[in-house]
Formats: sequence, C-alpha cells, structure tokens
Amino acid sequence: MTPDQILTAHRAKPAVLHGLPERVVFCKRCVMSNQRPSTSPELVKRDTKIDTVGFDDDGVCHACKFLEIKKQIDWPSREKQLLQLLDKHRSKDGSWDVIVPGSGGKDSAYVSHILKAKYGMNPLTVTWPPHAYTDIGWKNFQQWLRKGGLDNVSLTPNPKVHATLTRLAFLNLLNPFQPFIIGQKNLAPRVALEKKVPLIMYGENQAEYHNKLVENASPLMSRAHYTAKADQKFFFGGVALEKLAEHGVRRGDLEPYLPIAEADAEKLGIEIHYMSYYHAWQPQENYYYSVEHTGFEPNPERSEGTYSRYASLDDRVDGFHYYTMFVKFGQGRAMNDAAHEIRDGHISREEAVALIHKYDGEFPKKYYQEFLDYIGIDEGQFVEAIDKNRSPHLWDYQGGEWKLKHRVS
Ligand SMILES: [Zn+2]
Repeated sequence: MTPDQILTAHRAKPAVLHGLPERVVFCKRCVMSNQRPSTSPELVKRDTKIDTVGFDDDGVCHACKFLEIKKQIDWPSREKQLLQLLDKHRSKDGSWDVIVPGSGGKDSAYVSHILKAKYGMNPLTVTWPPHAYTDIGWKNFQQWLRKGGLDNVSLTPNPKVHATLTRLAFLNLLNPFQPFIIGQKNLAPRVALEKKVPLIMYGENQAEYHNKLVENASPLMSRAHYTAKADQKFFFGGVALEKLAEHGVRRGDLEPYLPIAEADAEKLGIEIHYMSYYHAWQPQENYYYSVEHTGFEPNPERSEGTYSRYASLDDRVDGFHYYTMFVKFGQGRAMNDAAHEIRDGHISREEAVALIHKYDGEFPKKYYQEFLDYIGIDEGQFVEAIDKNRSPHLWDYQGGEWKLKHRVS
C-alpha cells in the first residue's frame, strides 16, 4: 500500500478499536497505561471486548493500590494457612501431592523448590512447552528438573495444528499467543484429573498486577477460568470450533487445548492456589532465589522490546506476543517490566519513563523470518494484520511513519 492508501484506510476505521477506553491515562505512580488488558485477552470466546486495568479517580492503577493493601497483610498468618493446606495434601510415601505448572522460569522454579525443600511436598511439574525453545530456555528447563529432582509431564501439541491456530489467532485477533495461553492454562487441570492430584499451585495471581482487586482477596483461581460447562461453545483464533475443519483442524486435534468439565473438577476437588497469596511476591527475589537454588540463568542478551534479562525468555516467539500487545494497546514489554520494578522499588519513575521511550515497541527482528515461516504468512500479510489493528485513538500515521499519540511522561 502507498502512504496515502494507508492513511485513508486508517481514517476509515472506527475511532476506538478493541473496546478500549477512549481516554489514555498512565498511572501516576507506576507508568502503566489504562489500555492494558486486565486479563489474558478472552481465552476461549472470540475476543471482541477486552477488560482493561482498573484505575481510581486519583489516576492510580489498581496494581499500585494493591501494594498498599499488601503492606497491611499479616504474612505469618498467611503462611500458617499455607501450612494447613499443604498438611491436608502432603503424601506420606513421596507420591505426587501438588502440581506446579511452569517451564522452569524463575517463578515456577521458585515455587516448586520451596514446596519441596521447605514444605516437604512432592511436586509434579507440568509444562506446555514454548513454540520454539530458545537455547537458554531449554537449558533452564533442564536445570530446573535436574537440580530440583523433579518429575515433569510435558505435552507438546501437534506442531501443524498449533501453527494453524497461531496463524488464525494472529490474523483474526492479532493475538498470536492465544493458542499457547489456552493450552498452557488447561493442561495442569487435565493432568491433575488424570493423575488424581487435586492441588495445583501457581506462582503469582495475575490479579496481583492487573486483575480486579477483589480477586486478590482469595488464594484460589475461580473454577470458571479453567473448566467448561456441558454446553460451552469454543473459539480458537476467533473461529468457532465447528468451523475449524475448514482450516484442516478436527475436533480431536483440539483435545489438548480443551478445558476439563466443571463437574469433573468438582468431583475430584481440584483447586488452583496462588503462592503469591501466601508469600509476599517479589519477582526479583524469585530470580535471586532460583539462580541460587535451581541453577537458573538470565538471558545472555537483552530481550528485544525491553531492558530486562530475566523474564519470559524461553520462547523465540515471545517477542511477537509483546509486539502485538504494543500495537493493540500502545503498551509494550518495557512498560510492563518497568511498572513492576517501580512498584518493587527497584527503579524510579523517571528511569522507567526513559527506559520505556528507549525500548517499548522495539520490533522483534531477531526471529521475524522464523515467525513468518512458522505461521506460514508473508511480510505483506504481517504488515496488513498489524496496521489493521492500530486503533486511531492510539496511533497516527505521519510522514510515512506510525507514531503513538500518547506517550508516558
Ligand atoms: Zn500503577
């Protein structure tokens, strides 16, 4: 397309896409944008309307509000609650008594290690592998199991099916991670059911950051998030399950992605708990802990789109997850990382703003060709899908370039 055609197409769109808030606000404390989705964008249904981060009238986001609440929490009493829970489940003969989902990143390494070493549990780790392991991701995964002495169940989905779903999710929703997120989320409950281990322990409650504040008041993930009712309809990549046959994907191919039945979860008493409810959650502390105890290594190089080297580094496709978020919400990986680090007191707001201006939205060029080959599209289709999803309330097209209308300052 010529620049004029791009501009005409951009102006023909509705003013606000994706159901985002029309007014862009950045948190006065932590720099986070109010355009950020508060949950992983609709996991099963077609994602037309996205819930975004809560903000109070004083311009402070709910994740920052939670920080104040967190200071008031009686952590010793929370640990007692954890002990009671673990005492109820702990096996006497060393058989599995808790499931820890993860891929050997710093958070799952931390959770599985303290469950085993400090609390005498016998974790079964469960992994939905990345689309394509990075070298460092694969190394960390192996170290995690080896050093921790942990059993692991991994389920690698059919790569053809997974690539097809990822392509649809990219082209229809600009959310290439949707199939991965669905598979990952539903795998641990499936293994729990199969192995009859009802307790699942996650690391952080996403609510800790950007879900609704009320969700932080419970240690449990709501069952509605990971089970299905008998008459539930499913969508993958924005396509109804029944229509996927047109793309060469049959019902049976989707088995690994589907949630367990609500009735089965209830019968076995499956519960997903968050460690962040019982232990004050500090990503950087988890990093130091996992380096010391599980041999975790940070990325030898900076991840594209941010300045950080220790989060989300095991998948070569990661960069496209963050880049598409940046296009849809004007909020990228550096903003994510910086907001956490301000809240944890590691960097100042001023430093954060500078890092965001420098790195947010950086194009993930390292694995670009690999990504195009993986989902089977060409560069023209890539650019078209990207530009189609730039909401006019966030993006301007001037002098042959895309520019964000609002930047944090
Ligand atoms: Zn904030």
